[in-house]
Amino acid sequence: MAGEAQSDCLFCKIVAGEVPATVVRETETTVAFRDINPQAPTHVLVIPKAHYPDAASLAAAEPVIAADVLREAGEVAAQEAADSYRIVFNTGSGAGQTVWHAHAHVLGGRGLQWPPG
Ligand code: C5P
Repeated sequence: MAGEAQSDCLFCKIVAGEVPATVVRETETTVAFRDINPQAPTHVLVIPKAHYPDAASLAAAEPVIAADVLREAGEVAAQEAADSYRIVFNTGSGAGQTVWHAHAHVLGGRGLQWPPG
Protein backbone atom coordinates (compact mmCIF):
# COMPACT_ATOMS: atom_id res chain seq x y z
CA MET A 1 0.00 0.00 0.00
CA ALA A 2 1.18 3.55 -0.71
CA GLY A 3 3.37 4.97 2.02
CA GLU A 4 4.18 1.61 3.62
CA ALA A 5 7.76 0.83 4.69
CA GLN A 6 9.79 -1.01 2.07
CA SER A 7 12.14 -3.74 3.29
CA ASP A 8 14.80 -2.81 0.71
CA CYS A 9 14.74 0.94 1.45
CA LEU A 10 17.69 2.41 3.37
CA PHE A 11 15.72 5.41 4.65
CA CYS A 12 12.84 3.19 5.82
CA LYS A 13 15.50 1.31 7.82
CA ILE A 14 16.71 4.62 9.33
CA VAL A 15 13.09 5.44 10.28
CA ALA A 16 12.83 2.01 11.92
CA GLY A 17 16.14 2.46 13.76
CA GLU A 18 17.65 -0.53 11.91
CA VAL A 19 20.38 1.62 10.29
CA PRO A 20 22.14 4.21 12.47
CA ALA A 21 21.88 7.91 11.68
CA THR A 22 22.66 11.12 13.53
CA VAL A 23 19.13 12.37 14.09
CA VAL A 24 18.78 16.10 14.75
CA ARG A 25 14.98 16.38 14.79
CA GLU A 26 12.02 14.00 14.77
CA THR A 27 8.27 14.55 14.57
CA GLU A 28 5.31 12.21 14.29
CA THR A 29 5.67 12.25 10.50
CA THR A 30 9.32 13.15 9.77
CA VAL A 31 12.94 12.44 10.69
CA ALA A 32 15.87 14.80 10.08
CA PHE A 33 19.40 13.40 10.18
CA ARG A 34 22.91 14.47 9.12
CA ASP A 35 23.96 13.43 5.64
CA ILE A 36 26.72 10.82 5.84
CA ASN A 37 28.66 12.65 3.09
CA PRO A 38 28.14 16.33 3.89
CA GLN A 39 28.47 18.87 1.09
CA ALA A 40 28.25 21.91 3.38
CA PRO A 41 28.73 22.68 7.10
CA THR A 42 25.00 22.11 7.48
CA HIS A 43 23.80 19.16 5.39
CA VAL A 44 20.76 17.52 6.88
CA LEU A 45 18.22 15.26 5.20
CA VAL A 46 14.56 15.62 6.14
CA ILE A 47 12.47 12.59 5.23
CA PRO A 48 8.85 11.59 5.69
CA LYS A 49 8.46 8.45 7.79
CA ALA A 50 6.09 7.17 5.12
CA HIS A 51 7.75 5.71 2.04
CA TYR A 52 7.25 7.59 -1.23
CA PRO A 53 9.91 7.44 -3.94
CA ASP A 54 10.23 11.19 -4.49
CA ALA A 55 8.93 14.57 -3.38
CA ALA A 56 6.26 14.89 -6.06
CA SER A 57 4.68 11.51 -5.30
CA LEU A 58 4.74 12.38 -1.59
CA ALA A 59 3.04 15.73 -2.24
CA ALA A 60 0.40 14.13 -4.48
CA ALA A 61 -0.50 11.44 -1.94
CA GLU A 62 0.17 13.18 1.37
CA PRO A 63 0.21 16.98 0.98
CA VAL A 64 0.13 17.60 4.73
CA ILE A 65 3.20 15.42 5.27
CA ALA A 66 4.94 17.13 2.34
CA ALA A 67 4.32 20.43 4.13
CA ASP A 68 5.67 18.86 7.35
CA VAL A 69 8.92 18.04 5.49
CA LEU A 70 9.24 21.64 4.30
CA ARG A 71 8.47 23.07 7.73
CA GLU A 72 11.04 20.77 9.35
CA ALA A 73 13.61 21.82 6.75
CA GLY A 74 13.10 25.41 7.91
CA GLU A 75 13.36 24.34 11.55
CA VAL A 76 16.64 22.56 10.85
CA ALA A 77 18.00 25.71 9.21
CA ALA A 78 16.91 27.82 12.17
CA GLN A 79 18.41 25.30 14.61
CA GLU A 80 21.76 25.36 12.80
CA ALA A 81 21.77 29.17 12.70
CA ALA A 82 21.84 29.18 8.92
CA ASP A 83 20.15 32.38 7.75
CA SER A 84 20.82 31.47 4.11
CA TYR A 85 20.26 27.92 3.02
CA ARG A 86 19.02 25.75 0.19
CA ILE A 87 16.40 23.00 0.16
CA VAL A 88 17.04 20.48 -2.63
CA PHE A 89 14.96 17.52 -3.82
CA ASN A 90 17.04 15.61 -6.35
CA THR A 91 14.50 13.73 -8.47
CA GLY A 92 15.57 11.06 -10.95
CA SER A 93 18.98 9.52 -11.48
CA GLY A 94 19.92 12.23 -14.01
CA ALA A 95 19.49 14.80 -11.22
CA GLY A 96 21.56 12.80 -8.77
CA GLN A 97 18.87 10.95 -6.84
CA THR A 98 20.38 7.80 -5.37
CA VAL A 99 17.90 6.92 -2.61
CA TRP A 100 14.32 6.33 -3.71
CA HIS A 101 12.63 7.56 -0.56
CA ALA A 102 11.63 11.24 -0.68
CA HIS A 103 14.15 13.49 1.07
CA ALA A 104 14.91 17.17 1.31
CA HIS A 105 18.56 18.14 1.49
CA VAL A 106 19.02 21.20 3.74
CA LEU A 107 22.34 22.82 2.86
CA GLY A 108 23.81 25.88 4.55
CA GLY A 109 26.72 27.36 6.41
CA ARG A 110 28.68 28.35 3.31
CA GLY A 111 28.13 30.36 0.14
CA LEU A 112 26.03 28.42 -2.38
CA GLN A 113 26.49 28.95 -6.11
CA TRP A 114 23.68 29.39 -8.62
CA PRO A 115 22.84 27.50 -10.74
CA PRO A 116 23.75 24.28 -8.95
CA GLY A 117 25.74 21.80 -11.02
O1 C5P B 1 19.65 13.10 -3.48
P1 C5P B 1 20.28 11.75 -3.22
O2 C5P B 1 19.31 10.62 -3.42
O3 C5P B 1 21.57 11.52 -3.96
O4 C5P B 1 20.65 11.82 -1.69
C1 C5P B 1 20.91 10.69 -0.93
C2 C5P B 1 21.78 11.15 0.20
O5 C5P B 1 21.75 10.19 1.21
C3 C5P B 1 23.24 11.37 -0.18
O6 C5P B 1 23.60 12.73 0.02
C4 C5P B 1 23.99 10.43 0.75
O7 C5P B 1 25.19 10.95 1.22
C5 C5P B 1 22.98 10.25 1.88
N1 C5P B 1 23.11 9.05 2.69
C6 C5P B 1 23.13 9.16 4.06
N2 C5P B 1 23.21 8.05 4.86
C7 C5P B 1 23.28 6.84 4.30
C8 C5P B 1 23.27 6.70 2.88
C9 C5P B 1 23.16 7.82 2.09
O8 C5P B 1 23.08 10.28 4.60
N3 C5P B 1 23.40 5.76 5.09
